[in-house]
Amino acid sequence: MVGRPRATVAAMASYRPGKSAAQAADEHGLDEAVKLASNENPYPPVSSIVEAVAAAAGDVNRYGDHRAADLRATLAGWLGVDADRIACGCGSVGLLQQLFLAYVDPGDEVVYPWPSFEAYPVDVAITAATEVAVPLVDEAFDLDAVADAVTPRTKLVVLANPNNPTGTAVHVDDLRRLVERVPDDVLVVVDEAYREFVTADLGDPVHDLQPDHPNVVVLRTFSKAYGLAALRTGYAVADPSVVGELDKVLIPFAVNHLAQVASLAAIEAEAETRVVIGRLVAERDRVVAALRADGWDLPDAHANFVWLPLGERTDALFSEVERRGVVVRPFTGVGIRVTIGSPTENDRFLAVLAEVAAEV
Ligand SMILES: *Cc1c(COP(=O)(O)O)cnc(C)c1O
Repeated sequence: MVGRPRATVAAMASYRPGKSAAQAADEHGLDEAVKLASNENPYPPVSSIVEAVAAAAGDVNRYGDHRAADLRATLAGWLGVDADRIACGCGSVGLLQQLFLAYVDPGDEVVYPWPSFEAYPVDVAITAATEVAVPLVDEAFDLDAVADAVTPRTKLVVLANPNNPTGTAVHVDDLRRLVERVPDDVLVVVDEAYREFVTADLGDPVHDLQPDHPNVVVLRTFSKAYGLAALRTGYAVADPSVVGELDKVLIPFAVNHLAQVASLAAIEAEAETRVVIGRLVAERDRVVAALRADGWDLPDAHANFVWLPLGERTDALFSEVERRGVVVRPFTGVGIRVTIGSPTENDRFLAVLAEVAAEV
């Protein structure tokens, strides 16, 4: 051990990236495999976005605009809020880490339902916070239990809506009941990474909640629905004072120039992107129906993935599915999450799962 890492960091597990399709194919001696493990959009961004990024590639000798002022202003107009209510970050995970850095001292409590997004416990560990994980009930949030878990030491409540990995979602009226039970100096973070895939009428926390509750912070991203995962743009809609604190801890130029260009082009291309999203949503609904027809018990899927709560069968099913060239995301002893891919990829997953289920 060289140097003296902070105890909280030294105690953390090392990051283990998921297997790529190529690695899985290699490992299992297959010609090829498919990756349905990271909730990526299987389709490239629409061509106007790709062209805008290509045209801007020659400008990368200069730093981009640290504050992403154009993008903030454009997002504000797009969403119908004031520009001082928008922060941009290096993905929504970047903004989440900024929230922790700005608001959470060692020993402060951070409350979230669990299982949920695996970045949350990482930020808890980095800041030496205290995790308060509230178990899901029937794969969904128990918001009364979340409210009950808030104490005078709580700084953040974090809710992924739809939730990753279960794909379940809550209506803004349920969020309001929660927020009304939480002291107004606690930030309630609604992580809407998958908002664009939601077809149920869940309301909009930006317009339905934030006007009455300035402690609600909404996180969104261009990574998933807009197909820009590699470029890293997330944005927060929040009270201007929260935006101010977030900006203090933003790594210089973390929202890179190409990410800004791509995100502006993505807003322009919203209508075209909606067509792609519609295709993925139709596939999601088809996969859910096919799984149920095969006898699987799974919750309604509101994002671009499905959740199979397999409990004890998880690990065995996961390895057998991967051995046949379909890489999915296991949560040991709990279930597997499967990203919606192209129709061919989804069919392959369905066929492989049916084959494996007969054996395991
Ligand atoms: C994928 C995901 C994100 C990551 O978004 P980036 O903008 O790419 O950082 C955030 N929250 C949840 C719940 C996710 O599943």
